[in-house]
Amino acid sequence: MFQDITTLLLDPRAFRDTVDMFVDRYTGKGISVVAGIEARGFIFGPPIALAIGAKFVPLRKPRKLPGEVISEEYVLEYGTDCLEMHIGAVQPGEHALVVDDLIATGGTLCAAINLLERVGAEVVECACVIELPELKGRERLSGKPLYVLVEAR
Ligand code: 5GP
Repeated sequence: MFQDITTLLLDPRAFRDTVDMFVDRYTGKGISVVAGIEARGFIFGPPIALAIGAKFVPLRKPRKLPGEVISEEYVLEYGTDCLEMHIGAVQPGEHALVVDDLIATGGTLCAAINLLERVGAEVVECACVIELPELKGRERLSGKPLYVLVEAR
């Protein structure tokens, strides 16, 4: 069953409360990068980045970013997919937060962590609105902490 976050966006109070819960957690933590995963990480990531005073870095599907990129492939249930990030968007030593709407198997977040670590950033935490805990995705995050607002079963 697909967990649809677009209904949350229809309720401005609920959308704001969702963003605020992340902002409260990450304000003043020295995070200079919020990396959002295409596509729904682009909904939650930018308002969090603006509120905590961090830059927003989009992690995109292949051939979407205009500049020079680094790529990270990851395995899906059927086949593979890939995330890309602009070279130079993140500097070595920066502290990064990865944002997406949902973690299922964890493959997507794992690829995002790898991209950021390959350029020398430190991933402080991954943040999602929803976790599907039965798929045990958090076990694939190389020990990185995962913060979620809702568990869906
Ligand atoms: P994973 O790589 O953890 O298996 O899958 C997570 C990625 O797939 C996320 O980028 C997420 O947006 C998308 N995704 C997978 N299943 C769902 C779902 O049920 N609802 C939503 N909103 N996204 C999903």
